[in-house]
Amino acid sequence: MLTNYASINKQLAEQAKSCGRNPNEVTLIAVSKTVGLQEVESAIDEGAHDFGENRPEELVRKSQAFPNENWHFIGNIQSRQIKNIVPHACMIHSLFKFEHAEKIDRVAKEIGKIQKVLIEVNVSGEASKSGVHSGDLPEFLKACKDLENISICGLMTMAPIEDAAHANLPSALEVFRSAHDLLEANRDQAGSQFCEFSAGMTNDWPDAVKCGSTFIRVGRAIFDPDMF
Ligand SMILES: *Cc1c(COP(=O)(O)O)cnc(C)c1O
Repeated sequence: MLTNYASINKQLAEQAKSCGRNPNEVTLIAVSKTVGLQEVESAIDEGAHDFGENRPEELVRKSQAFPNENWHFIGNIQSRQIKNIVPHACMIHSLFKFEHAEKIDRVAKEIGKIQKVLIEVNVSGEASKSGVHSGDLPEFLKACKDLENISICGLMTMAPIEDAAHANLPSALEVFRSAHDLLEANRDQAGSQFCEFSAGMTNDWPDAVKCGSTFIRVGRAIFDPDMF
């Protein structure tokens, strides 16, 4: 079974270079949420080492099947699932509630781990979208300072869900640029580890690379045969 991983990774390197960036700065996360273990294995054969899952059960199942790869949790966090997520996630991309930060910290402490997390931000202010609003980020970062078993490594964002042009919303490029500005603006407060930027999916990753993303999360373009 074949995936499109190698081709997308090559396109990513080309896009990074064309933006004057070092391709090594940007990691392609293969979002395997719609596929099984066989497809994951095919992607590994093509050189993939970073995978993204949005459901805790699948994160556990696939990370146990392929424990040498990096498993990123990119889904909605539910409090009762944190105990299942933390032991298996190299990084949690979708933190936006302080109560979840506290619980992640507690579970990480129990298993002797420093859990890397990214804060999901909602820079367009869409009501339907989750994430910390730009103006609330400094306070969120401050509140997390005392949590010794989480390391806040940067920000994650998503482009507007609806068709931006029709809904009068900012474009993906504008959203990524604002989120990256927010990362820079909060670096002094958050510390030197605060440098990762998770942005870009199948439809918009080239724009995200333009705006400084260090992780792109691509599912369909890698795993959906209709797309390659
Ligand atoms: C599904 C998903 C992706 C991948 O989306 P594609 O459009 O399939 O590339 C990226 N990030 C998150 C948070 C997702 O849920």
